[in-house]
Amino acid sequence: MTDPVKSGDFIAPVVRFAPSPTGRIHIGNARTALLNYFFARKRGGTFILRFDDTDFERSTEEFALGIEVDLAWLGVTADRKFRQSERFALYDAATEKLKQAGRLYPCYETSEELERRRRLQIARGAPPIYDRAALNLSAEERANLEAQGRRPHWRFKLAPDTVRWRDLVRGDSHIDCASLSDPVLIREDGSYLYTLPSVVDDLESGVTHIIRGEDHVTNTAVQIQLFETLGGRVPQFGHHNLLIGADGQGLSKRTGALSISGLREAGVETLAVAAMAALTGSAIPVQPVRSLPELAGLFDLSAISHSSARFDDEELKSLSQRVLHGLSYDSVRERLEALDIVGHKAEPFWLAARGNLAVFADIADWWTVVAGEIPTQPLDADFRDAALAALPAEPWDETTWSAWTGALKQATGRKGRDLFHPLRLALTGREAGPELAKLLPLIGRLKVLERLRA
Ligand code: GLU
Repeated sequence: MTDPVKSGDFIAPVVRFAPSPTGRIHIGNARTALLNYFFARKRGGTFILRFDDTDFERSTEEFALGIEVDLAWLGVTADRKFRQSERFALYDAATEKLKQAGRLYPCYETSEELERRRRLQIARGAPPIYDRAALNLSAEERANLEAQGRRPHWRFKLAPDTVRWRDLVRGDSHIDCASLSDPVLIREDGSYLYTLPSVVDDLESGVTHIIRGEDHVTNTAVQIQLFETLGGRVPQFGHHNLLIGADGQGLSKRTGALSISGLREAGVETLAVAAMAALTGSAIPVQPVRSLPELAGLFDLSAISHSSARFDDEELKSLSQRVLHGLSYDSVRERLEALDIVGHKAEPFWLAARGNLAVFADIADWWTVVAGEIPTQPLDADFRDAALAALPAEPWDETTWSAWTGALKQATGRKGRDLFHPLRLALTGREAGPELAKLLPLIGRLKVLERLRA
């Protein structure tokens, strides 16, 4: 028998999406969220939403709430949720542990001093790595510096090893820690940088897989050393490629470009955003889907390509329309109800009109065409009289239109556009739109008579 604890396949995974609430999430962040969410859902695992909000100056409650709204809109629901700002006791305990282990040491250099040393190293052709001068400070020297009012920042002392991991996306990976500066974990004002709290939380919450953007590859060796120093199991890592804009630039939370809230406000369909976010830059073609589970089923981490994933706004727009045109009545019933599109006509109406929508909100106008009052363009008198005379009696169905226009063709000799176009303008007030054979029974005889006589 396979030992379920040793065989990764048998353990239900625990993953997390860990945004810092310093802005609203964009479609690139949604990619990370979805990849984690699908990974958990497909394996009966747990998906954690963690707010990395230790940066008090830039994190806000408003952004955190906004991110939750954005995730809910995407259909991503968390099994567990917490904020780092509530967990300082854990980070303080880990800090103690690192100090005990002799792996955390105080440094007093100002950023100007560090910058000066860096330039000297570069000038000498040496790699600009922190020289660990602070490790050689005596207790007395430290006391002197503190007496001058200097406060220490704290660095993690890296072991000079090559750290290796098998990345779920990128395969065998390694980083030589001798080529890295000892990372600062705690700032001069006592606040934590992202690295330590992230590892502490991943340990505490039993995270098994860290799936995140490849901008974090460089953090991985440091984090693996921290996991080991803190005595924990090292999770598996998967670093996905980053989405870049059509201009070739990376996406940024600060600029708000391609934010989820912006896309929602522009009327882009959720499932289009999700499909673009998940499938762009993978071996699976971007395609319309009808549900999030369908998308999860298409997707696999190993399908992600190794180069960056160029994102195309036009593709998103057209995908959104294709998604919209394929949505079943059941999947939009509530959204239609919210627009007061209800009753026995609602379903045939949706099926008739969905193919004409650029965005969902357009449906309201077509409902007015069917059920409300609209300005129309009258027929000329002869044609109108013939149209009224030939109008079939109810009940009407989808054959009524051809019966009526067949009779009108006979009666007037009109055909093609001459026959159909004036009728469309008289009945809908629009140059184009859903098939009239479908609209006619929805408009109904009474309204058709009104509009013809107008
Ligand atoms: N707060 C980090 C970020 O938003 C999380 C990185 C990680 O997943 O470890 O990039």
